[in-house]
Amino acid sequence: MGAMEQISLDDARNRKWDIVIAGSSLAAMFFLYGLPRNLSVLVVEKGGFVSHEEQIATPLPYESFKSNSEKPWIARSAFGGNSNCWWGQTPRFLPADFQTKTLYNRAEDWLITYEELEPYYTEVEQVMEIAGGGSEHILPRSQPFPFPPHAPSRSDAILQNTGDLWVPSPSARSNGGSRGLCCANGICHTCPVDAKFTILNARQNFERENVHLLLNHEVRAIRTEAGTAKSVEVLGSDGVSEIKSDLVALGANAIFNAAILLRSGFTAPALGRYLNEQAGHLIEIDAPIQNFYGGTSITGQGYHFYHNADRSQRAAVLIENFNVPAATRAEKNRWTERLTLKLIAEELPSPDNQVSLVDDEVLLRWNGYSQYAQDGINYALTNLADAIPVEVESIKDIGPVATEAHILGTTRMGGTKDTGVVDRELKTHEVSNVLSLGSGVFPSCSPANPTLTLSAMSVFAARSL
Ligand SMILES: Cc1cc2nc3c(=O)[nH]c(=O)nc-3n(C[C@H](O)[C@H](O)[C@H](O)COP(=O)(O)OP(=O)(O)OC[C@H]3O[C@@H](n4cnc5c(N)ncnc54)[C@H](O)[C@@H]3O)c2cc1C
Ligand code: SF4
Repeated sequence: MGAMEQISLDDARNRKWDIVIAGSSLAAMFFLYGLPRNLSVLVVEKGGFVSHEEQIATPLPYESFKSNSEKPWIARSAFGGNSNCWWGQTPRFLPADFQTKTLYNRAEDWLITYEELEPYYTEVEQVMEIAGGGSEHILPRSQPFPFPPHAPSRSDAILQNTGDLWVPSPSARSNGGSRGLCCANGICHTCPVDAKFTILNARQNFERENVHLLLNHEVRAIRTEAGTAKSVEVLGSDGVSEIKSDLVALGANAIFNAAILLRSGFTAPALGRYLNEQAGHLIEIDAPIQNFYGGTSITGQGYHFYHNADRSQRAAVLIENFNVPAATRAEKNRWTERLTLKLIAEELPSPDNQVSLVDDEVLLRWNGYSQYAQDGINYALTNLADAIPVEVESIKDIGPVATEAHILGTTRMGGTKDTGVVDRELKTHEVSNVLSLGSGVFPSCSPANPTLTLSAMSVFAARSL
């Protein structure tokens, strides 16, 4: 496949590795990217390699989970994981997102600040070839975006002139760089022209000597002796095998990372708990302004209910303005005069929402969104005139979306084993040569999409070793 060299199970278990990484998606690969080059690394991926062409012909299937609720949690097992089907929205978190306890007495503070993470944000943005610009007054940055923002949709061009809280949306959908240009057709989960950053189309960034890939094997558990990890148990069609390693980094997402640690006998009280994601809510607004004709699927974001919001009262809400003609107007000559907006509210993580194991397999318990998230959505709906200061003809409340396709919170960072699962460098408190990567470590839930931040945290963790 031209990426890192594949290895057989026999060859993988006949040696001892410096590092075994579970998973081959964003959390895993940005950790690999940040590691010193002289280390021997085995990437163990549960799924197989499925080319871009094959994914277009047959979309990757979803994992299914036993759960007490209908709410979907979206995970796909293949080389590159959900990077294959993400949309490539890449806002940074606001500095306040890292301090919600101190500033608003909500959720928990992170053990790292925006300023400390900033260089790693910059580095990941370079690798992803992010297109952006025009949000620097809200999100301070040390370097310009690698590529300019996409041309705004006609409505974004108008809204961005009404105040400085409508900004161009940064994205990993190409507007220059090594990938073909985004052509704004808006089916980004399987981008037909491969314009969106994926692990597959950027794998040259992760290739190096000493790195090998074992496909179609699932990391089930970590074996420890005297408080130190010695090896991982992997399951393939050939049964369970043991692979020895000096360090284990889990990049299998917030559901599977928690399951692996639970199966391995880790006992931190927060482990598996605080499963959460943002609450999304769609609305359509008819107004006498034209929409569409922008350079990518989402060209603008509104920070009206996010930047400087009073989050002690209610959830912060980020607005996305879609340039995808999902539901256009029927009136003659007015079909473009409709906005489709998504309100995305942060969630207050609850210990009762959790990943647990029954008969060694995952069982999810999720009891619905908090009143805090709902209050944020309601406040944004009531005060939309602050964000859309144009004549509005009608607002249609489409309602909640089933999922934002994010999975957060089950291996949260905290100062001690009593308050968290990992420390600031994403090492587990219980076994210091085991790391949990990805958005499971987030101790609070920003309304902003998580992937740029989790990728930056992976580079930070690798450099901290
Ligand atoms: C349709 C969709 C749109 C999205 N859009 C955006 C967006 O615009 N912006 C944004 O920020 N985020 C978006 N996301 C979320 C984003 O995809 C995730 O945040 C990101 O993929 C998480 O990366 P990860 O590496 O932690 O986990 P995943 O991408 O879930 O990857 C986990 C990897 O681990 C493998 N694995 C699982 N279990 C094991 C095991 N036991 N052993 C070995 N390997 C294992 C999987 O096969 C996979 O390769 C979207 C997601 C979806 C589904
Ligand atoms: S808008 Fe179209 S070209 Fe651009 S990333 Fe999405 S699917 Fe690909």
